[in-house]
Amino acid sequence: NTQDWQAADSRHFLHPFTDFQGLARKGARIITRAENIYLWDSEGHKILDAMSGLWCVNVGYGQQSLIDAAAAQMKELPFYNAFFQTATTPAIELAEVLAEISPPQFQHVFFTSSGSEGNDTIVRMVRRYWDVLGQPERQVIIGRKNGYHGSTMAGASLGGMSGMHAQGGLPIPNITHIDQPHWFEHGAGLRGETAGLTPEAFGLKAAGWLEAKILELGADKVAAFIGEPVQGAGGVIVPPASYWPEIQRICDKYGILLVSDEVICGFGRTGQWFGCETMGTKPDLMTFAKGVSSGYIPLGGVMVGDRVARVLIEQGGEFNHGFTYSGHPTACAVALANIRLLRELDVVRHVREDVGPYLAQRFAELNDHPLVGETQSCGMMASVQLVKDKTTATPFDEALEVGMVCRGHCFGNGLIMRAVGDRMIVAPPLVMTRAQVDEMMGLIRRCLDLTLEDLRK
Ligand code: PLP
Repeated sequence: NTQDWQAADSRHFLHPFTDFQGLARKGARIITRAENIYLWDSEGHKILDAMSGLWCVNVGYGQQSLIDAAAAQMKELPFYNAFFQTATTPAIELAEVLAEISPPQFQHVFFTSSGSEGNDTIVRMVRRYWDVLGQPERQVIIGRKNGYHGSTMAGASLGGMSGMHAQGGLPIPNITHIDQPHWFEHGAGLRGETAGLTPEAFGLKAAGWLEAKILELGADKVAAFIGEPVQGAGGVIVPPASYWPEIQRICDKYGILLVSDEVICGFGRTGQWFGCETMGTKPDLMTFAKGVSSGYIPLGGVMVGDRVARVLIEQGGEFNHGFTYSGHPTACAVALANIRLLRELDVVRHVREDVGPYLAQRFAELNDHPLVGETQSCGMMASVQLVKDKTTATPFDEALEVGMVCRGHCFGNGLIMRAVGDRMIVAPPLVMTRAQVDEMMGLIRRCLDLTLEDLRK
């Protein structure tokens, strides 16, 4: 029964990003099965999963073709490596398909099992690139405050999460950060960096922080800039449309590699196959994971653009890097089935033209709620900022943990919605229908009302 599972869980299982004692007091919610966009727990409660698991179950749960692909591949050849000048057919076929759906500069892929490993690979690959070109002093990689690039030493260093940097002596050397292009955090047009600026002007200003950092470090020391097209774990922060093209211009001007972390934004989330296409950049490298296999099985990797691939392949010799599971045949077979399904169901167009704009419209309607200071959306991801006073965009006292209060109401009312501070975020499965968006929005509004009631008590 549930209590036995909870007791065993707290005895043995250290959960990621979790206060172990806090969880032990409450007991974990045990998730037992799933279908489409819904989960069920061990008590039989049905829950609408507005986070696609963890930004990954793009095709929804229970897709038989992915399940069959895993079973068939496991029976035929569950595993073989790609180290011994060997390859398996699912890995070769997936590499070919990824080259087909990626922007044209990407004709090569390096496989990993996760986004964190992908971003570790980025660090080694960009430094290797500059080494081979005879510029080993180009070491520094610039990320952003509140960016998230994973939990390994390099991934967490590239990311700009202060809580992560506070533990374990991060960031590692030669990784630095600029501030995030977050309209609300920078004053919501009322004060600070955004005062008197349009969002577009603020976007240019925020991109200018990259140029200032490059000049401070010396361009000949800078290897690459990395960012998520839309910051996910940071709170679904959608930059002004002016931001990314200006970042691209700056990277081009100084010859710096541009890395797009597509771990969340890839595979249709923003209404294009990759977020960089939505944002109008032409990156040199892209990290992917999550949606490549809709989370049914771990898989990630790096798409390597022509500029880097040419140097590594033609001049680089052996690249001393790789994982046991680089190109895991079962993972690749599932990813192939997943991409086939995304294509068959025309999911990317569904997000871009139908359900994405509808989600944006329904989120914008939340602006009439007394708790809501800002809403943002891009494709099938959206956020709502909870504020103490919406006319002045005044945040709540952090100690009130208003986001966590709201999240508690969501959990209690059959909705998984994540809280990042006082910012409530969703990233539902891409196959969601308009009727399901309505169902989700009804739950969100109810949970906002319940949170407001709590605050007025
Ligand atoms: N990059 C981004 C943008 C992510 O959101 C994540 C995970 O949420 C990662 C990298 C790390 O991926 P993983 O958890 O698969 O290591």
